[in-house]
Amino acid sequence: MGTVKCIGILTSGGDAPGMNAAIRAVTRAAIYNGLQVKGIYRGYKGLVTGEIKEFKSQNVSNIIQLGGTILKTARCKEFTTPEGRQLAYDNMKKEGIDALVIIGGDGSLTGARIFAQEFDVPCIGLPGTIDNDLYGTDMSFGFQSAIDIASNTIDCIHTTAASHSRVFIVELMGHKTGWLTLYAGIAGGADIILIPEIPYKMESIINAISKRTQEGKHFTIIAVAEGAISQEEALLTKKKLKELRASEAGKYPSVAYKIGDKITELCGHEVRVTVPGHVQRGGQPNAYDRVLATRLGVKAAELIMAGKYGYMPCVKNNQIDIIPISEVAGKTRKVDPQSDVVLQARQLGLCLGD
Ligand code: ATP
Repeated sequence: MGTVKCIGILTSGGDAPGMNAAIRAVTRAAIYNGLQVKGIYRGYKGLVTGEIKEFKSQNVSNIIQLGGTILKTARCKEFTTPEGRQLAYDNMKKEGIDALVIIGGDGSLTGARIFAQEFDVPCIGLPGTIDNDLYGTDMSFGFQSAIDIASNTIDCIHTTAASHSRVFIVELMGHKTGWLTLYAGIAGGADIILIPEIPYKMESIINAISKRTQEGKHFTIIAVAEGAISQEEALLTKKKLKELRASEAGKYPSVAYKIGDKITELCGHEVRVTVPGHVQRGGQPNAYDRVLATRLGVKAAELIMAGKYGYMPCVKNNQIDIIPISEVAGKTRKVDPQSDVVLQARQLGLCLGD
């Protein structure tokens, strides 16, 4: 590895609010320190196809407040093959790029780790995902903005739920982890929160609804993660669960509809389902995510200046820290059912489905 004079930045995987703030911070701090910067479009795809453009300070003006990513993002199958990565490396060299800053989630950082090992390329990762499931950081940017949107959805449902005496189910993003559902559920005052890390029992859900009815509360709001599973489903192998989901697909578009159907069947309540979907990724990043992405982005440039490669700037105990990408890639940070936040939620009388 020689001296780094020019860096390439890309955003990969799912977009997250704060990615633009990170692009801006890396670009500005790198230029401030005398480096040349190139923007790579559509994640690894742009590296493979050579969709790359020089970035000056003005290219990142007026973007800190924008959601999405000005560099676009993509999922790139070609980059998962040695041939694709060879093309990516050739384009890097052609463009004079000496080091990469990769902004994304677990998959993107796994790609970075493999690429760095194969071609001895200096890489820095940045944690940008609304799922907050990246191992090694207490917080990823995008997460807090997504909580704002998801909890706002629950707020809106509250008004209509209280008027109609129904059960409302709000299905939130999170196939493997329940971070967003847990935090948005708490912030929005949901009555039942169902996350993949705590498999649910229908009986517990029905009991929680009945208890509320007995207390004179005539509506119930359930926040459910799209990857929530029942205790019976938790016993199935991955393959069997996939088969079950496929067989149910015609009847239930997603988990919220299945739970809703069961509630009506078991206790006769009228149920309405709301799925905000990609709205949760959209809109402007909130101030927290802008500051977080900025601080992590500047740290990325600092690491490059110091010749420290193969790291991901992260948050540990409210401080900006660093962790080797090799320790992060391929792992998922799940909600610990015994963590403080879960135990605190239980003390509110919230039902977590178990
Ligand atoms: P999100 O958490 O929002 O889904 P992500 O970064 O985990 O973001 P992925 O779709 O898993 O998103 O990965 C993004 C891209 O990273 C993939 O399309 C692929 O180009 C690259 N990538 C993922 N895994 C690997 C791998 N094992 N080898 C090489 N490249 C990979």
